[in-house]
Amino acid sequence: MSKIFVTKSYLPPQEEYIEYLNGIWERHHLTNQGPLVTELEAKLKSYLGLEQLHFCSNGTVVLQLALRALGIDGEVITTPFSYCATSHVIVWEKATPVFADILPDTLCIDPDAIEAAITPRTQAILATHVYGIPCDVDRIEAIARKHGLHVIYDAAHTFGVKLNGRSLLSFGDVATCSFHATKVFHTVEGGMITTPNAELAAQIKLYRSFGHTNDDYYDIGINAKNSEFHAAMGLCNLPKVGEIIADRKFVTELYDAHLNWDKIRQPVIPASVERNYAYYPVFFDSEETLLRVREALNAEEIYPRRYFFPSLNTLSFLRVNKACPVSEDMALRVLSLPLYPDLPEADVLRIASIINRNL
Ligand SMILES: *Cc1c(COP(=O)(O)O)cnc(C)c1O
Repeated sequence: MSKIFVTKSYLPPQEEYIEYLNGIWERHHLTNQGPLVTELEAKLKSYLGLEQLHFCSNGTVVLQLALRALGIDGEVITTPFSYCATSHVIVWEKATPVFADILPDTLCIDPDAIEAAITPRTQAILATHVYGIPCDVDRIEAIARKHGLHVIYDAAHTFGVKLNGRSLLSFGDVATCSFHATKVFHTVEGGMITTPNAELAAQIKLYRSFGHTNDDYYDIGINAKNSEFHAAMGLCNLPKVGEIIADRKFVTELYDAHLNWDKIRQPVIPASVERNYAYYPVFFDSEETLLRVREALNAEEIYPRRYFFPSLNTLSFLRVNKACPVSEDMALRVLSLPLYPDLPEADVLRIASIINRNL
């Protein structure tokens, strides 16, 4: 039996990608806002219902662009329950992360904890819609407005997610997404950044390519562009997203039906959310149970991941000293189970039964 990892990257039919490669070979335009990048940006805008959107090289540099474009160099209130990139970018950009604990149901940042963490040096809130579950966007917006703060959403998990019929990427002053190979929609490596603010969008676009356009130099910048080869993968994958999400839903519902819910928990997802089934996290009663279950799965060459562990406030090199008891507790007990479109039904049932036997 072959190994089962937490995810398996989707690949489109090879001939569809080769078709795009033939065009690249004809044009010799490999990068720098080529026709495929332009086409992908237009199609993404229409798919996601966004006015402004920039395709970039990954889902981390877009967070850096967001912090830079908003002029953030002070305190940023952020979530300890996310992928490490969310906090690393704050430190990388020489700003200061201030962790606010999460809500136990949605695993997203707790608005009360945000309010409690505000100081005169606070400039922004950087929150993650973890597993594609929306943060409390209304309360976060109200807090931000009241205190004059910027809101950045790390929406890396949210491709295709809607809240009350509206793309989750449309919330916040700036939202970013990752198109990494492991995400629901991918361009091998890639990411995007969006903002409803046209001026900010122009600044971000400038930062994306060294701060200049042709021979006109305006500002410093970085190289956050992406290539025609990556855009081609995106153009192949975008029409398949509906199918990919439907297949992920099928696997999700199998787990839902076969896991023993007496002893494990999953996040609570509000009915107003149209999901993308990006992850399948389960919370055990203790870390001890988690380790036992993981060992039993590993023995059958099944490799779930501890997403998200450790709680980011406990990373010593970030030099923060703030307890986030909910996040620390949940991080110890969470395992993300294998979930991808063609994961065979028999394997899902086998995984569920190994878990149930080891609770
Ligand atoms: C994947 C991910 C990132 C990083 O994206 P890359 O494209 O790999 O740079 C950032 N934040 C979160 C929450 C992620 O899951």
